[in-house]
Amino acid sequence: MSDHGYFDRFGGKYVAEVLRRPLDELEAAFAEAMADAKFLAELAAVRDDFIGRPTPLLFAENATREIGGAKIYVKMEGLAHTGAHKINNAIGQVLLAKRMGKTRIVAETGAGQHGLATASACARLGLECVVYMGEVDVRRQQPNVAAMELYGATVVPVTAGSRTLKDAINEAYRDWSASFPTTHYVIGSALGPAPYPDIVREFQSVIGRETRDQAASRGIEIEALCACVGGGSNAIGFFSPFIDRSHPRLIAAEAGGIGPGVGENSVRMGGAASSDGIVHGYKSRFLVDADGQLAETRSISAGLDYPGIGPQLAALGENGRIEFCAVGDAEALDAVRFFARTEGVLFALESAHGGAAAMRLARELPRDTSVIVNMSGRGDKDIFITSPIFRPSEWREFLRDELARLESGVEIHAFGGEK
Ligand SMILES: *Cc1c(COP(=O)(O)O)cnc(C)c1O
Repeated sequence: MSDHGYFDRFGGKYVAEVLRRPLDELEAAFAEAMADAKFLAELAAVRDDFIGRPTPLLFAENATREIGGAKIYVKMEGLAHTGAHKINNAIGQVLLAKRMGKTRIVAETGAGQHGLATASACARLGLECVVYMGEVDVRRQQPNVAAMELYGATVVPVTAGSRTLKDAINEAYRDWSASFPTTHYVIGSALGPAPYPDIVREFQSVIGRETRDQAASRGIEIEALCACVGGGSNAIGFFSPFIDRSHPRLIAAEAGGIGPGVGENSVRMGGAASSDGIVHGYKSRFLVDADGQLAETRSISAGLDYPGIGPQLAALGENGRIEFCAVGDAEALDAVRFFARTEGVLFALESAHGGAAAMRLARELPRDTSVIVNMSGRGDKDIFITSPIFRPSEWREFLRDELARLESGVEIHAFGGEK
């Protein structure tokens, strides 16, 4: 838990006056809900029946043999409904909002994964859902936009600023400032003003508790846990039952992108380019440019391509409890191929950064130790990014044929689509 919203010097509640009341209400409602057996039973039921929990803990036997060091286990969080851990937080917050009497949800999304999870949770629990998304992201993430609309959400393209995630966050705050009597804002990672980092960690901590219990029941002594870090929600949830101990080692992989230069990666903790800042309502480490503005970041994985990091992760990185490392695009792609070939398991590009960190570690550690990597998501969603890399000419041909087929118009007309 935070200390009045702070994790050492990070965190806090740096918001406009108008948002103080809804944040205080949220904090009180969350504390009440987590002490209410009825709410906890509802949460347990949606986790079982809707998300598909518990997710398995897989012994990656073939991968372990090939690497020849520590045993590698994979927490198969990507088997959760909608394909990633984000649903744990989305369904928890939407359930909380419903308990608070809210009828409407707003969310921000970058690549679309958080919007997708929130839209699905709202459809399931019967709340209206509005997702703010930068216009640039709407154009490049059409498969997720289509899925959000299928779930009944309204996707609002944001045309301000750089028309990407940070502008979408601003719009979501603007909406919430004017609508909070009926509306809850579902933030997608373990960041934002207090109490969000505590709420998101709590809803994601189911990953870590399951892992701890699965390992204990199978007699697995955990030497290290590895996870990728964008905003930090899958990592903090995975690590949370272990934070107050000195063991196991907790390893967090940031996106090394294409190199160490400013604008080439999204390394907030390991590199030299970040500094303390206050952005979007919380104090943490941020990548900023020479003018003190949020810097451009780069990663092959959209979910790690973000200039800020959750305040608790920043604090645990500085005090040494979490060890940060950077994994570049090429090494992440190698990890995707490696686990697909050896285990028949397709890591999301984000999760493959954690996978690569686990591979590095397994090479260094003795055979009688165990490393667990959180596969935060599965890689089906990445087909538009990995195919042009793995099979460039076939993919180009496929897209050309698809376009020709669409332009011939046969199927579209048959189902009453555009004329
Ligand atoms: C969004 C996402 C991430 C990054 O978000 P965190 O809050 O850092 O967990 C990681 N993995 C997957 C699969 C994602 O969709």
